[in-house]
Amino acid sequence: MKTIVTGGAGFLGSHLCDLLLSKGHQVICIDNMVTGSERNIEHISSDRFTCLKNDVTKPIYFGDRIDYIFHLASPASPVDYLDLPIQTLKVGALGTYNMLGLAKEQGARFMLASTSEVYGDPLVNPQPEEYWGNVNSIGPRGVYDEAKRYAEAITMAYHRYHGLDTRIVRIFNTYGPRMRLNDGRVVPNFIGQALRGEDLTVYGDGSQTRSFCYVSDEVDGIYRLMMSDYTLPVNIGNPEEHTILEFAKIITRMTGSSSGIVFKELPVDDPKQRRPDIEKARKLLGWEPKVGLGDGLRETVGYFQKIPGKSQGKSHP
Ligand code: UDP
Repeated sequence: MKTIVTGGAGFLGSHLCDLLLSKGHQVICIDNMVTGSERNIEHISSDRFTCLKNDVTKPIYFGDRIDYIFHLASPASPVDYLDLPIQTLKVGALGTYNMLGLAKEQGARFMLASTSEVYGDPLVNPQPEEYWGNVNSIGPRGVYDEAKRYAEAITMAYHRYHGLDTRIVRIFNTYGPRMRLNDGRVVPNFIGQALRGEDLTVYGDGSQTRSFCYVSDEVDGIYRLMMSDYTLPVNIGNPEEHTILEFAKIITRMTGSSSGIVFKELPVDDPKQRRPDIEKARKLLGWEPKVGLGDGLRETVGYFQKIPGKSQGKSHP
């Protein structure tokens, strides 16, 4: 099986490459290294793995037959997509279009990595796949949310019009080793701050909720969906919901840190609640998360303790 992973040198992409290699796939990682990093794939020594430093917003041709394309390439942290608004829109629109074209030419099965952000600031909790969302198209997060909504639309159009074999996974907050310490997301920010003995920066009053899925569970769900025959979107995430203030306390406790908490302004359009309804994944894929928050965070903290440059966090502008 010859498989492309776009964004394969990113946090999630690199774990997916590991999983695919362990299942015997020949893996071609395509990444322009804007938010991905060679460091995330340097441990891979398999001769079934290649990495191309390419930008998927430009057309790519392959002579050989491709069986599967996992299209993950995109900035994925709110701070990153605020820094890279045009690239985020381009990779969601042009990148998805190019990869669908490649899948069609090769007769490959295509999976779009979509996101819980398609639900925007949801008025329904937990979010089932049937919920259409509450997105501000012209707000700062619109560049990511609308790019992914467009990407879902064009994926379904290729499926319905061209009969392309497609999958759409809606990925909820995921954490684990290889997250970038300075990607601005809550997990690396809080862990970095706790390890440096700085106050944890809680945005707003911390009553907004998120549900965190450990990366090994996430890539397992993504893989199972690709290998299933289900073509409509499926949520993959952990339904255990916490307020961000609770989460800050969990991180300080876990790291044994003496850090306090400071409250900062809530970013514009920050969703107030987020929790996946995973009934579809349970029924269709026999999937549910296995790794609890305590175990997952211990692994993640261990990773951050070892990497150089513990001093660079990044806060929301
Ligand atoms: N957040 C926070 N402090 C930080 C970083 C994030 O309180 O230093 C909050 C953020 O406002 C949001 C939640 O944590 O409510 C998750 O943010 P993240 O950027 O990880 O991802 P999101 O789920 O918003 O895409």
